[in-house]
Amino acid sequence: MGPALLCVTVTAPTTAELRRKRDEVVDADLVELRLDSVGDPDVAGALSGRRLPAIVTCRPAWEGGQFRGSEDERRSLLREALTRGAEYVDVEWKANFTEIIAEDRGRRVVLSMHDFDGVPADLVEQARAMRSTGAGIIKLAVTTRRLSDCLPLLDLGVQIGRDGAVLIGMGECGLATRVLAKRFGSCWTYAGTERQVGQVTPGELRGLYRFSSLTAKTDVYGVVGSPLTHSASPAMHNAAFASVGLDAVYLPFPAADADDFVTFGRALGVRGASVTIPFKVALSDRVDEADAVARRIGAINTIREIEGRWIGGNTDAAAFLRPLRNRVPLAGMRVAVLGAGGSARAIVAALGGTDARVSVHARDRARAEELAMTAGASAGPLPPEAGSWDVLVNCTPVGMFPNIDATPVEAVALTGRYVYDLIYNPTTTRLLREAAAAGCQTIGGLEMLVGQAAEQFEWWTGVKPPAGVMREAALKRLAEFMRHENHVV
Ligand code: NAP
Repeated sequence: MGPALLCVTVTAPTTAELRRKRDEVVDADLVELRLDSVGDPDVAGALSGRRLPAIVTCRPAWEGGQFRGSEDERRSLLREALTRGAEYVDVEWKANFTEIIAEDRGRRVVLSMHDFDGVPADLVEQARAMRSTGAGIIKLAVTTRRLSDCLPLLDLGVQIGRDGAVLIGMGECGLATRVLAKRFGSCWTYAGTERQVGQVTPGELRGLYRFSSLTAKTDVYGVVGSPLTHSASPAMHNAAFASVGLDAVYLPFPAADADDFVTFGRALGVRGASVTIPFKVALSDRVDEADAVARRIGAINTIREIEGRWIGGNTDAAAFLRPLRNRVPLAGMRVAVLGAGGSARAIVAALGGTDARVSVHARDRARAEELAMTAGASAGPLPPEAGSWDVLVNCTPVGMFPNIDATPVEAVALTGRYVYDLIYNPTTTRLLREAAAAGCQTIGGLEMLVGQAAEQFEWWTGVKPPAGVMREAALKRLAEFMRHENHVV
C-alpha cells in the first residue's frame, strides 16, 4: 500500500486568479477548484489548460461554502464541469443531486458530507448510505474537539477505506486524519490555507511531514500537550527522522486531557511521544511503567511503546545537566533555582545527584519548601538575595515570549558567576543579556531543548540524530515563529 494522494484546495476571488493560483500548484496529485469562492464562476475558464487532475467543488453556504446562488445554478455548474472533462466533481450528499451521480454512473463523483457540530453517532450508517448511491468516492468530514474524536474515522476507514473514501477530522485535533491519510483509509487528503477547519498547507504536509512517503505502516510519534501551536518539537523530530531515513512521522497531539491522549494513542498505535505542559505529571500515572529517573522526578517527558506497553521516561534532567557540567565545576557551587513548577522539579532532582548546594526560590514559599525537601535543598525568597548564589537557573516563564521585557532578577542583583535560563523563546532573554553585561557566563534554554529531544529520539529509535539537525530545525522554527509574530529574534 503506497502513500495517499495530495489534493491542494485553491480558492480565489475571481476565475482569472483561480487559474493563476491553480497553475502555481506543483508537486501535488490533484487540485480542488473551489468555484464557490470566485465571484464570477466560469467552469471552462477554471478547467482549461490545467496541468493537474481537478476536482470541481461549488460548496453552498448551507454546507459551509460561499456559493449563494440557487441550487439549479449549482447543479448546472457541476454538470458543465463533468461535460468539460473534470476528473471529479464534488457533490454534497444533502443536495440530493442524484441525477449527476446517475449520469456518470458515479465514477467521477466525490459525494461529500460535512458535520460542523461533531461526530455523528450514525457515522457508519451515513457512510453506507452514501456508498449505496454509487458515487466513486465518498468524503466524510466531521468536527473533532478531542483527539479521540478521530477514532470513529479510523474504524470507518478499516471498514470502507479500500473502496474510495476520504475521511477527515476537522479542527486541530483532527490533524492526524489529514497527515496520516493512508492510515485512516483515505485515498487522498486536502491541503490548503483554510486554518479554521484545520487544513494544513501543502508546504507543511510535504516538507515538515514528508506526506508523500507516508504509508499505513509508517511509525507514528508526536508531542502531547496543550497548547502546541508554537512547539518546535515536530520540526526537530521530523528533521531527524528525515535525516536518518526512518519511516516515521511526528505530529502535535493537542489532547483535551490525559485520558484523551491515552485512548487515542493506544488505538492509533503511537510508538512514542514527547510529553509537555500540562500532562507531565498526569501521564506519569497512566503509563504501564515509569523508569527510575521519571519516578524520582515524579513527572515524565517521554513515552515509549514497547510491545504494547507504555514506558515513561524523563530526558529533561540529563539534558539540563549536560550544558551546565560542560562549563561549570559543580562541586560546592551554590545553585539557586527560580520557580517550583514542572521543569524546576526535574532540575532540582538532577542537581540533587551532584555536589552542588541547591536552593529553591519561588513566589509561593510553601511550594519552594516542598520541592526543596525532595532533594535535600533549602528554600529562599524570590528573587534570591544578592551574593547568595554562584549559579542562577531560571525555571519560571518570566521573560518568555510575549513578555520579553520581563526578568525574574533585576540586573543589579546579578552578582554570581553563571546564569542559565531555561527559556528558549527568545533564544537570548533579557535575563541572559543583563547577566552577560554583568560579567556572568550564560547558558540559554535551546541547548536543553535540543538535548532532551535528541535523547528522546535515541531512546525511541536506537539511533543518534546527526549533530546539528535538530538544533537547526528548532532555530528555523523559532525564527518562523518570530517572523509570524513580527518580532526580530
Ligand atoms: P510551570 O510548571 O508552569 O512552572 C512555572 C513556575 O514559574 C512556577 O513555580 C510558577 O509559580 C512560576 N512563575 C510563573 N510566573 C511567574 C511570575 N510571574 N513570577 C514568579 N514566578 C512565576 O512551567 P515549567 O514547565 O516549569 O516551565 C518554565 C519555563 O521553562 C518555561 O518558560 C518553559 O518554556 C521553560 N522550559 C524550557 C525547557 C527547555 O528544554 N529549555 C524545558 C522545560 C521548560 P506558581 O506555581 O506560583 O504559578
